[in-house]
Amino acid sequence: MPHTVTATQPTMCLKHGDFHAMDPDCWGATLDWQLAHPHLEGQDARDAYLAAVERQMLDNLVRNS
Ligand SMILES: [Zn+2]
Repeated sequence: MPHTVTATQPTMCLKHGDFHAMDPDCWGATLDWQLAHPHLEGQDARDAYLAAVERQMLDNLVRNS
């Protein structure tokens, strides 16, 4: 793993479109995203990941309204 993040540290979660301490399912979604975007590195990868999480957040808002 290129990133060293502790499990108890709140992280942008792609699975839930939220910022929280991630469980293994959350990390699985993040890892899947990274595997699906192997061409992105460093800041580009972070920006694209945050954009994906924001889309998930908007999906949650639409679903909950
Ligand atoms: Zn999550």
